[in-house]
Amino acid sequence: MELETLSHSKKYSNSLTSYSRFKTREVHIGSVPLGGDNPIRLQSMTTTDTMDTIGTVEQSIRMIEAGCEYVRITAPSKNEAENLLNIKNELRKRGYDAPLIADIHFTPNAAEIAARIVEKVRVNPGNYADKKKFQVYNFTDEHYIQELDRIREKFTPLVKICKEYGTAMRIGTNHGSLSDRIMSRYGDTPLGMVESALEFVRICRDNDYHEIVLSMKASNPIVMVQAYRLLMSKMIEEGMNYPLHIGVTEAGDGEDGRIKSALGIGTLLEDGIGDTVRVSLTEEPEYEIPVCRELVNRYSSRSQHSEIPPVIDYPLDPFNYSRRETIKVDNIGESNVPVVDLTPSDEDISSPENFAKIGYTYSSELDKWNIGDMAPDYVYLGSRDISFELPGTLKKIYDFKYWNELENKSESYPLFSLDEYLNSQERSHKINLLLLSDEDVYNEELLNYLNSDGKTILVLNTNNAHSMPALRRALIELINKGIKNPVIIHRSYEVTGDDLALYASTDIGGLLLDGLGDGAWVESSSSPLDMINRLAFGVLQASRTRISKTEYISCPSCGRTLFDLQETTAMIRGRTNHLKGVKIAIMGCIVNGPGEMADADYGYVGSGPGKITLYRGKEVVKRGVNAESALDELINLIRDNGDWIEPSSN
Ligand code: SF4
Repeated sequence: MELETLSHSKKYSNSLTSYSRFKTREVHIGSVPLGGDNPIRLQSMTTTDTMDTIGTVEQSIRMIEAGCEYVRITAPSKNEAENLLNIKNELRKRGYDAPLIADIHFTPNAAEIAARIVEKVRVNPGNYADKKKFQVYNFTDEHYIQELDRIREKFTPLVKICKEYGTAMRIGTNHGSLSDRIMSRYGDTPLGMVESALEFVRICRDNDYHEIVLSMKASNPIVMVQAYRLLMSKMIEEGMNYPLHIGVTEAGDGEDGRIKSALGIGTLLEDGIGDTVRVSLTEEPEYEIPVCRELVNRYSSRSQHSEIPPVIDYPLDPFNYSRRETIKVDNIGESNVPVVDLTPSDEDISSPENFAKIGYTYSSELDKWNIGDMAPDYVYLGSRDISFELPGTLKKIYDFKYWNELENKSESYPLFSLDEYLNSQERSHKINLLLLSDEDVYNEELLNYLNSDGKTILVLNTNNAHSMPALRRALIELINKGIKNPVIIHRSYEVTGDDLALYASTDIGGLLLDGLGDGAWVESSSSPLDMINRLAFGVLQASRTRISKTEYISCPSCGRTLFDLQETTAMIRGRTNHLKGVKIAIMGCIVNGPGEMADADYGYVGSGPGKITLYRGKEVVKRGVNAESALDELINLIRDNGDWIEPSSN
């Protein structure tokens, strides 16, 4: 058995190389059971005011018709919890029986009402029994036990109601809203997230209540993936198998939201983890469902993939990030940020002006290139000529035979096939690239050769349908054999648009999250080059391996939202998207927003109708600012803090 030789403490899935979904226990949620042998379910959350019965019903119907299998609705107080009955009745009257889930924060009394009405309640263990004060206490063991008794007292009535009414429950940890108790004891860590849920799980188990689903969301996909893996590992260790709801919180909108979501969700799905998926986008909730579906559909026939050699010695720590140790070959590997390689079309290389869309703007008057933050590092030209000089920061890759014939080899480097590499003595004295499939790395002759070659970068790809694990396995082989050449992950796709973003984010991002990979090279002949470039930089940004733009952490909005999130996000983005590396959170309400904006540098949070509260990190800087002037005030705050730069006039 493949994983038997792995240390037990590292085991978090059925297998790292053979696709199989971890079998969880079946949880009954109305007419749509979750976990067990059921398909991975899709879900989303309404954004309407829960007191607006018809508005919520109509939005729920749009979601259900898009394929949403569970509809989550916020219940911030007793009134909304009670109104869930009207919403449910109206939906049933109109012929829709999708299970409803009440989303609860801070209000046990609302939860206890909702649990009698809807099919499932979601509680946040960070705030069900605790008010968040962002204080660090020094908890003695005795004090900690007293705290657990207090939680037990507050939470047990809900467990009993759920048991009596056959209501399911999600214990949903959020990285940004851990209780002060957990933060004090475990810190702001994946372990803290897991323990936060387990405190509540133990109470459920003591009451012999098992209709529970767990989640470990974070807006940072690395933290999110590590927390889910750790939870899985704890469950395996303790013989538990509760289904998992997986998602990345506050992923944002558009392409970036999809990239971040796929990076977190896709990485877990690759390892067979997850029973239901929610993609949190700052868009209409029905738009989330096709993204969920596309992520999940990739696994419908995955188990038929070609065999991957089993992992015998697993050198990675699945719960902590560390980058694979590599040598430096020019600007690739060691501590360099991962590079981006692109394959331009014939049209793209026909004129220097066409490079403007990938961050290289040519001025013919000055005969100079202006280089943007998202400008790639390498272009693959194959056996094609280019009639103009490229900027020095953009290196050219040619097929080895073509390169060998070039008279001027300045900033031009050869790409070898395995055969050419093993059988030719010709080399660039600076950089050589070697195209390998995952299966090639098990070739002893090659490994011996690479051991003494400090000038070669491996360009690794795979034809295996289980691509991320196949590539991960190949990288593990390189680590175990002591090969330190940098590796560029190369993937070619037939798909375009959202699918391309989701697939590449999973396949490449899933490796970067584990510190594997020194570059990304995505090819899709039917996609525009600028889209592929944005995608590659987006994956590097979301995996926090190369920061090239502002990061927005915006909540998906819900019935608590105090302003139009989509419009406001677009407005804030319009004035701040040149602030490379700055993280700005845009949150719809003050109840959950501050807790959930995680590691943002600045926060723009709705605190009342037409009112915004501004944060620097977790510290309130200005309360109750009028919405009309809030963006200017936010910019002043960024400026006062030394993070503002004037946008360039280009
Ligand atoms: S932060 Fe956004 S999604 Fe979360 S509860 Fe508040 S308004 Fe709703």
